[in-house]
Amino acid sequence: MLSPVTTIPKSLDDYREIVGEEVITEIRNLAAPLRGARLIHLNSTAFGGGVAEMLTSLVPLMNDVGLKAEWQVIKGDEKFFNVTKTMHDCLQGTSVSWNQYTTRVWLQYNQMNAKLFDQDYDYVIVHDPQPAGILKMLETGGKARHGKWLWRCHIDLTEGQENVWQFLEPFAEIYDGVIFSLEDYVKESLGTARIFILPPAIDPLSPKNIELSPEVIAQVLSPYGVNLNRPLILQVSRFDKAKNPWGVIDAYRLVKREVPWVQLALVTSLAQDDPDSRDYFEHVAKYAGGDYDVYLLTNLVGVGNVEVNALQRSARVAIQNSAKEGFGLVVSEALWKGRPVVAGNAGGIPLQIIYGKTGYLVNTVEECANRITYLLKHPQVAERMGQAGKEHVRQNFLITRYLRDYLKILNRLSGRPGEPITGGLEYRSG
Ligand code: UDP
Repeated sequence: MLSPVTTIPKSLDDYREIVGEEVITEIRNLAAPLRGARLIHLNSTAFGGGVAEMLTSLVPLMNDVGLKAEWQVIKGDEKFFNVTKTMHDCLQGTSVSWNQYTTRVWLQYNQMNAKLFDQDYDYVIVHDPQPAGILKMLETGGKARHGKWLWRCHIDLTEGQENVWQFLEPFAEIYDGVIFSLEDYVKESLGTARIFILPPAIDPLSPKNIELSPEVIAQVLSPYGVNLNRPLILQVSRFDKAKNPWGVIDAYRLVKREVPWVQLALVTSLAQDDPDSRDYFEHVAKYAGGDYDVYLLTNLVGVGNVEVNALQRSARVAIQNSAKEGFGLVVSEALWKGRPVVAGNAGGIPLQIIYGKTGYLVNTVEECANRITYLLKHPQVAERMGQAGKEHVRQNFLITRYLRDYLKILNRLSGRPGEPITGGLEYRSG
């Protein structure tokens, strides 16, 4: 058996106040024909990163509306996760090398995980490239397919290394459907009959996003030394080239010339499926030097979901200086807390940032610094943008919309006629 992940129960009814009765009713209607269906999500890690973040909420909500939903994590060790990180980077366009060794390791671990996948489900949702080979391994091993299989690709494939995609494609195209986060990410060559577009979403009731009072915020952040009476700017993300924390430090240094009291917090978590993260951390720490106004905060000093929540609520401006970004959940997280976001014009970020309304899209360090400075000097503009951002997220990027769209996809895969799928969810319908 693969490793099961336990989640804390959730109730859809608790979201009524946030999203309204109509949304709740629609979800319950869509879930009715799926009652009792056995569904499993498979991915590579139970914590750290956007996929785990969403599954933590999606799985209990799927159970609450009547499915029998599970979540299991594939088995792997440092060797495998180094290889999957390489594959991830290659597929996102970083110039690392995919070779016979990485191919062999990826195949070997997918084979092993296929053997550990030992039960039948009505729906299997496999997330990202790490475990994508399991279905083919099962079938070449002689096991007949049971249920419908979906491959859910969360990453931006547009500038990936073609040879790596060509390696992965035969494993992906035998799925009954493939889900991408954005239309731009669709691989037209993919032979799959059905392709769906499903932008990610955040859970407004999770510890990461739930409302916190100023007293709680002050208490939660007291161990970390951040001065809440001084302006704070913040980036929460993995430390790697795509998220570019070095560029954030450069921008902060420019902002500091104009707003000397500014503080910067860079939050990162050292994730199980990201073995490079410690090296990157040291590198960023050196780059920040001995600046007492730069806070480098990690899960290792207890910065978890509630602390991230408190920091996002305390920041005057949130930054997401990504050169590459599948979607960028952190952007919606900050907008939901009424914070304007200055972010790289990459991947799924422009869906969330309406230029000048919910934040600013920037392409250079100087632009990033200028926009942050402007927002720090014009708090009323920042406040207005934050409120617009919150509404934008309410309409488009909450977990209820995500759950609803998944239910539509599952119904469609089962061949139920139902309502036509609207809003661009169905890209290719077979
Ligand atoms: N995250 C966190 N602590 C960290 C870094 C990231 O809790 O130190 C969370 C962040 O709040 C978000 C997710 O991890 O929920 C990252 O998702 P995103 O889509 O922004 O990026 P990914 O890491 O999936 O590329």
